Amino acid sequence: MLRRSFIQNSAFAFGALTLAQQKLLTSFFDDPWKITMLTDNIGIFTEKGGTIAFLLGKNEIVVVDAQFPEQSQHLIDELKKRSQNPFRLLINTHHHGDHTAGNISFKGIVQGVLAHVNSKTNQENSAKQNKNEDKQLYPDQTYTDTWCQKFDKENICLYYYGAGHTNGDSFIHFEKSNIVHCGDLVFNRRHPFVDRGAGANMQSWIEVLDKARKKFDSKTTYIYGHAGTGYEVTGKADDLKKFGDYLGSVLKFVDGEMKAGKSKDEILKATAIPGADEWKGDGIQRPLQAAYEELSLKAAQ
Ligand SMILES: [Zn+2]
Ligand SMILES: [Zn+2]
Repeated sequence: MLRRSFIQNSAFAFGALTLAQQKLLTSFFDDPWKITMLTDNIGIFTEKGGTIAFLLGKNEIVVVDAQFPEQSQHLIDELKKRSQNPFRLLINTHHHGDHTAGNISFKGIVQGVLAHVNSKTNQENSAKQNKNEDKQLYPDQTYTDTWCQKFDKENICLYYYGAGHTNGDSFIHFEKSNIVHCGDLVFNRRHPFVDRGAGANMQSWIEVLDKARKKFDSKTTYIYGHAGTGYEVTGKADDLKKFGDYLGSVLKFVDGEMKAGKSKDEILKATAIPGADEWKGDGIQRPLQAAYEELSLKAAQ
């Protein structure tokens, strides 16, 4: 409140500043994060890293993903203002740091942390590799295929449909509200990171998205880990179809180039994927390289 009234009261002074100075000043005083409520008690939090979802239940709070420590602290501070209830469960969609580094802010606050069994192993391996094991809060509960539990009036289910963005990605379904957090299984109109080191597989990823579209329905609202500039981090089944088609287009393009005798370096120079016009911006080399490696391996079999 103080900060906002400061901005309002100082608005007259802004005229004396350059646009760049005004922007800088505003960025100091604006909240860096954003909360969007999807229903009365389910919302998303965006700041830096993968989209967070939360349930403010009648008796307990559930959070899906944690971004980075500073961001998860912002979330915790804000949720504490909105609810006196305990943090019952933190769920990780998968192990990547932009979804789990913030787990540590929940240490001593949350009653349990849940993820797919492979996600836990990946988190432990990454932390060992990066020598930051002391900065982790690991899952203390894991599952393999399906996991469901009731939280007040909401029923939360996790589904594992196979390798995709990693080998440990979950869909998290808030059943009653019909909202599904896809984690990084959906990069909405943005070139994805394909973590082959952690078991990612693009062909299998397409099938995983198909299974999700069959399991959930046309009314389901989906939450995405990331979106391209100008696109939303929530949407409907059509986004999953489009993203699956995009992955198929990448594989088809790279396969054609390889069969035409192009080298890996030549293939990586591509600036667009034929048939996937909506995917623009940085990071195109990541799926190209992953597709190249996946197809090379398949050809060698
Ligand atoms: Zn991510
Ligand atoms: Zn990820």
